[in-house]
Amino acid sequence: MPRKKQENKKKNLKRQKKKRFQTVRGMRDILPNEQPYWQKLRKVIEKIAVDYNYNRIDLPLIEDVDLFKRGTGEETDIVSKEIYEFKTKGGEKVCLRPEGTPSVVRAYLQHGMRIAPKPVKLSYSGPMYRYDRPQEGRYREFFQFGFEALGEQDAVLDAQMIQMAMRIFKALKIHNVTLHLNSIGCDECRPSYNKLLISYLNNRKSSLCMDCKRRLKTNPLRVLDCKEEKCTQVVSQAPQTVDHLCSDCKTHFTSLLEYLDEIQIPYLLRPQLVRGLDYYTKTVFEFFMEDDLGNQSALGGGGRYDYLVRKLGGPDTPAVGFACGMDRLVNAMKSQKTDTYQPPTPKVYLAQLGDVAKKKSLRIFEELERTGIMVAESFGRGNLRSQLSQANKIKAEIVLIIGQREALDGTAILKDMNSGGQETIPLDKIIKEVKKRLHKNAEMIKKIIKQKAAQKKKRKTKNTRKKIQLKAKKNIHKKTKKSIKKKVSRKK
Ligand code: AMP
Repeated sequence: MPRKKQENKKKNLKRQKKKRFQTVRGMRDILPNEQPYWQKLRKVIEKIAVDYNYNRIDLPLIEDVDLFKRGTGEETDIVSKEIYEFKTKGGEKVCLRPEGTPSVVRAYLQHGMRIAPKPVKLSYSGPMYRYDRPQEGRYREFFQFGFEALGEQDAVLDAQMIQMAMRIFKALKIHNVTLHLNSIGCDECRPSYNKLLISYLNNRKSSLCMDCKRRLKTNPLRVLDCKEEKCTQVVSQAPQTVDHLCSDCKTHFTSLLEYLDEIQIPYLLRPQLVRGLDYYTKTVFEFFMEDDLGNQSALGGGGRYDYLVRKLGGPDTPAVGFACGMDRLVNAMKSQKTDTYQPPTPKVYLAQLGDVAKKKSLRIFEELERTGIMVAESFGRGNLRSQLSQANKIKAEIVLIIGQREALDGTAILKDMNSGGQETIPLDKIIKEVKKRLHKNAEMIKKIIKQKAAQKKKRKTKNTRKKIQLKAKKNIHKKTKKSIKKKVSRKK
């Protein structure tokens, strides 16, 4: 090999060794300081799932790519442009899932859930992948949670889906969310509507973007929600789906609106809303949040998909569902300063000095943890002072100190951080003693809280009494003033 080539190879190798790895474009780490928001979000979703009787399902990240081609639609953006598609070493054509609904339906059919009592209610959450242009609030790996109900066609379920989403936003203290709503009909009314739409759009074809010119042939309905300015202008005057619904779709939509009125959820009827996916029928909806600058951000959306089960090889099964972007909800929580999840903090801190003590501490830690007592430690630290200051920082009630002498004697020093007092306790009695002290402290705290509440109540009654007295005094003044006035006027 020529010398120059050899040198270049060496340089490249050196460069590669020095390479500092970064996340791949569009991917990101969710760091520990963000986790309290995610924890809170997960807890709220879990609670709603339990309250509304939805069972959790975990679905694989990798699926047969045809599931989305057939289910979501080959012409949709998420399949035609954004899918992470690849061949495995075994030659299978697979993809990273871009959304959850087709996977839920696949699982429903694969595991014979169609014989279960209807509706089958399932919920999921996890990462989704779309090869889109990354920007604020749009990632290539993002998280969604979703709820799906299969086997029921009543509009009450559509309303309940919307109600659940709204309950979640409310629990997260995300305000200014608007519900956009439309009905896009079914196999009976859509063909004639499509004809009308195509003829309208064909007359204005030159004003449409390239994508919409193509959509005009493949899926004309999708022209309606194109974001290109020139297309939105054309679409604003286009025939509206709601004016061309068959009687079944009309009744379904009207009942949905009545249900929403009943549960007092306001909505904005948006004739251009079709959602980007092929499988929707009848109801489609989307939730938008407006930020301080007036920008709209989509938090989630969903609708009815009465033909998807059949399209994926199953029997006729009406279904409805929705999904929300968790990353966007977390961003919204941050901007609206929602309180986050606060994990319980350990009340006991385990401090140790020396190698033998470290070994004993490892065992004591496990025993305490096994009995349900949360313990903090910093086994890496050798310095007692820094360990004690750590214990202070986390506001530990009890510190257990195992030094070299204690380790040899089989004891530990129990330091009560409230009173400052300390005692040496044999290790085999330590759990019992810690429990006893924690119980005593908890009782004391309860007593203090009770006393404070009683004091507050006393103060409140005193204040109310004062207020009543003051009011009475004022009334007397008013009355005397009135009677004086009366007397004066009578004298006159
Ligand atoms: P969709 O079903 O495509 O409307 O997605 C439902 C929700 O997922 C959207 O309203 C967004 O909140 C969220 N979402 C979709 N795509 C992305 C993305 N690339 N990055 C972050 N969130 C997304």
